Parts: sequence; structure tokens; C-alpha cells
Amino acid sequence: MSTPDIHRRGLLFVLSSPSGAGKSTISRRLLQGNPQLSMSVSVTTRPPRPGEVDGKDYHFVDHARFKAMVAAGEFLEHATVFGNRYGTPKPPVLTQLMAGRDILFDIDWQGTQQLTESAENDIVRVFVLPPSAPELERRLRGRAQDSDAVIAQRMAKANDEMSHWAEYDYVIVNDDLDASVARVQAILTAERLKRRRQVGLADMVRALQLQP
Ligand code: ADP
Ligand code: 5GP
Repeated sequence: MSTPDIHRRGLLFVLSSPSGAGKSTISRRLLQGNPQLSMSVSVTTRPPRPGEVDGKDYHFVDHARFKAMVAAGEFLEHATVFGNRYGTPKPPVLTQLMAGRDILFDIDWQGTQQLTESAENDIVRVFVLPPSAPELERRLRGRAQDSDAVIAQRMAKANDEMSHWAEYDYVIVNDDLDASVARVQAILTAERLKRRRQVGLADMVRALQLQP
């Protein structure tokens, strides 16, 4: 017998990590296995990396456009990372949440703090750590998308990002990828089952109770 479809609130599922620890890879795997989960596509002033698609990986804009979007209040949160600006556009997130869907965010600690302020009850925060510093550098180089200078900048910034690990609800050490995906999936599954998120439960229990 299939499980009844109980109406529930969508959740904001945040993955943060130092650049290169593996959050985009974990996110892709999670999206494949969860049709009720959508990725929030951020807006950035960073130039596209080889292979990145506008509208899919990011919405790529110039600084003037980003500034205009900030002024118009079009972001749920925004921050400057590595000298580039990044922001989460508001309308798609609100639409998805209203439909009871979950949203996955690949954002840094600054954005996570801002989202926590505006959606404390609906946010679930996961921090991804690399197994070691040399492995982090190996992954950044292996990705082969950034220059030596950019990789050095990202390694230097990793300390700063990692210093915020304690602001997250869950911490994953991304050593074996399959194990990490399974752990993040377990978090998502359990958080979806939280009683307060299953707003349709009261009706279901009423229908279950036998009439005298
Ligand atoms: P982030 O999104 O955190 O910047 P990515 O997901 O782009 O990081 O991963 C950086 C590189 O590390 C990629 O080449 C990816 O294939 C690789 N990678 C991710 N997770 C693992 C893992 N558990 N073991 C080995 N390599 C990994
Ligand atoms: P990258 O340039 O490697 O794609 O991302 C650099 C950093 O910016 C990562 O830590 C990523 O999580 C963060 N980031 C991406 N989009 C957003 C966003 O919309 N808001 C915030 N605050 N950070 C973001």
C-alpha cells in the first residue's frame, strides 16, 4: 500500500562549505533523487566558468543590474564572496514554498545567517567539511575551472568559511561521496517528517479515528 500524501510545509535546505568541498556535487545527486526538491538559482556578478549555463547554474548579471536588483528588494539575501556579488532571487523561492516544495540553497555563511533571520522555522542548515586541507586543494585543482591565483584565494578563504561551521544544524565530512549523499538524504528525509512541517496531519488523524 502506498503512503498517503500528507500536506506539508516546504523547507529551505541550505548546503554551505568552503569552495571545493563538494556541495555542488552533493546537490546534483540530491536533486536527481528528490523530485519535490528544486534548486534555488542565484544571481551573480561572477563570470561564468567553462560549462556553466546562464539560468541553470546562475543568472549571470553585471554589477549595475545587481545593484538595481538590491535597490528593488528583489533578493531574499545577498552577499559579496571573493569580490563578486551573489544573491537569492525572492519570487521563485516564495512560489515553491507555497506549493509545499523544498528548496535547496548553495549559499555561503552570510546568506545562511540572513535566511535564518527571515525563515527560522523553515530552514535546515548543513555544513560540508572536506576530509583534509590537502584534499580540499586537490579537489579545487581537479575541478580545473580556476586559475592558480583564484585557487590560492579560495584556499585562503576556506578558513573564514569553515569558522562558521557551528552555526549549522548538521555537519558532514565529505570523504566518500556516496556516504555523504546518503547522510544528506537522511537529514532531508527526517526533516520532512518533523511533526510541525506535516500540516495535513491533523486532518489525516481525524479521518483515521473511528466514529463512536
Ligand atoms: P563546491 O561546490 O563545494 O565548490 P564541487 O562539488 O564543485 O565543490 O567539488 C569540487 C571537486 O571535488 C569536483 O571536481 C568534484 O567532482 C570533487 N569531489 C566532490 N566530492 C568528492 C568526494 N567525496 N571525493 C572526491 N572528489 C570529490
Ligand atoms: P562559486 O563562485 O564557487 O560558485 O561560489 C562561491 C561561493 O558563493 C560559495 O560559497 C557559494 O555557496 C556562495 N554563493 C553562491 N550563490 C550564493 C547566493 O545566492 N548567496 C550567497 N550568500 N552566497 C552564494
